[in-house]
Amino acid sequence: VLFRSALHNGEFQVYLQPKYDIFTEKMAGAEALVRWVHPVKGIIPPDEFIPIFEKNGFITELDMYVWDKTCELINEWIREDNKYVPVSVNVSRKDIYRQNLPEVFLNLLKKYHLKQKYLHIEITESAYTEDPEQLIKVVNQLKEAGFTIEMDDFGTGYSSLSHIRELPIDIIKIDRCFVIDLGKDDYAETFVRMVAELADTIGVRMCVEGVEYDEQLQILKDMKKVQYIQGYYYDKPLTEEAFEKKYL
Ligand code: C2E
Ligand code: CA
Ligand code: CA
Repeated sequence: VLFRSALHNGEFQVYLQPKYDIFTEKMAGAEALVRWVHPVKGIIPPDEFIPIFEKNGFITELDMYVWDKTCELINEWIREDNKYVPVSVNVSRKDIYRQNLPEVFLNLLKKYHLKQKYLHIEITESAYTEDPEQLIKVVNQLKEAGFTIEMDDFGTGYSSLSHIRELPIDIIKIDRCFVIDLGKDDYAETFVRMVAELADTIGVRMCVEGVEYDEQLQILKDMKKVQYIQGYYYDKPLTEEAFEKKYL
């Protein structure tokens, strides 16, 4: 009940964080990240409510809302400014069990007259652990439907390295925990380098999120195999208005 009224009151807002091309240092896309703007408590970060919504099932409705808002926004950019940037949306591990996920996304594109290339789909690697077969099936269907697939939180699930051969993914997003230790801990750097080499070898692009410091950026640039950077170093997630003002 609380969730429904919050949804109806427009308390859930989509923020956008830019992703930069590491070589050109220009914005190459964005990620849609939800915030609960509570009238009394203020902004509640997703880590505080997504796990709860995954348990009580609201996540399906919330994600649908975020995906719809994101497509609506891209449609506006195209209509009003004749501009667009690809935006990636997050898919909860719970959404993976919805049999019609590709259809849901294709219907959204139809509703807002968008092409597949405008929307990227981020799927968390941790979904692999729960039901690898279902994940492989859904990712293949989404890929066949023409979407760009980003594997999120890479390196935190099990036997990560074997997955990427089975899954037709386009971009690997390595988990932020490895980036925090870049420059401090040799293991982190070795791991990121190894994943970057592997991604490059099999023709998958790599995005590194959580980059905050120049030192981290330099280490990643020197690897020469990382394409995209997302992090406070460039920008925090911005409101729709702030994002449009700065980037469109
Ligand atoms: P995620 O998908 O891994 O998103 C990246 C998170 O890292 C975001 O946190 C972002 O704000 C944060 N981040 C980016 N750059 C930096 C940085 O340089 N430093 C630090 N400290 N943090 C950085 P956020 O927005 O709080 O989201 C947390 C998680 O909540 C997301 O992790 C994602 O798993 C989930 N989430 C967010 N929005 C949605 C949504 O619409 N649907 C679903 N299913 N999950 C969502
Ligand atoms: Ca994500
Ligand atoms: Ca992530």
